[in-house]
Amino acid sequence: MTPFFASRGAEFVSSVSSITLALSKGRIFEETLPLLAAAGIVPADNPETSRKLIIGTNRADVRLVIVRATDVPTYVQYGAADLGIAGRDVLLEHGGAGLYQPLDLDIARCRLCVAVPKGFDYAAASKPGARIRVATKYIHSAKAHFAAKGMHVDLIKLYGSMELAPLVGLADAIVDLVSTGGTLRANNLEEVEEIMPISSRLVCNQASLKLKRELIQPVLDAFAGAVK
Ligand code: ATP
Ligand code: MG
Repeated sequence: MTPFFASRGAEFVSSVSSITLALSKGRIFEETLPLLAAAGIVPADNPETSRKLIIGTNRADVRLVIVRATDVPTYVQYGAADLGIAGRDVLLEHGGAGLYQPLDLDIARCRLCVAVPKGFDYAAASKPGARIRVATKYIHSAKAHFAAKGMHVDLIKLYGSMELAPLVGLADAIVDLVSTGGTLRANNLEEVEEIMPISSRLVCNQASLKLKRELIQPVLDAFAGAVK
């Protein structure tokens, strides 16, 4: 699908009468375009090809800021953006302080799971009292999951390419997002446990929602209508 972009961004107006939406590039931006369209919002640039970090829209009172996926909750928490779209995975690691989460957008769907090298005896390794080494970007979610199972786990924080860790002896298992399982298969790993389903949610700064309700509510309503 080739996204449609407004030919020219409207001049952005002052902040009390305007809203800023924080988005990350890639799948979240792509899957958010139809939701924005339902709210009558058309971005003026494509962040994949433009290097701009602030992107205007066809509406003078709406702009987008393009940030790293894991940074979306932070921008919204501090009010640098009024709204944002972030994965449940990212929100659980952030903790959600200062954020109102009114809507599951049902986009960027995948699952958080435990994966191990093919042939690794996870059943034995996950008996209560056993101890394993797990590499992950999702320290909070992983800690909660293994604690609930009564497992002792040494967690190793990584920032990407988790699949490599068990292949080179850094960890016994990984906790990572999986959608098709293609990356796991390509690296001779298998999913042994689903921790939770993941999709992206709309998040809103709590003060913005009170102060800019008349601008934000129609966007929430349009998104909610488009999700159904
Ligand atoms: P980077 O890949 O640049 O390190 P990132 O991993 O934070 O950044 P993305 O890979 O674009 O960013 O993921 C953004 C969000 O999309 C994740 O937080 C997650 O909610 C969701 N996501 C990640 N991987 C998948 C996937 N394979 N299928 C569907 N959704 C996914
Ligand atoms: Mg990624």
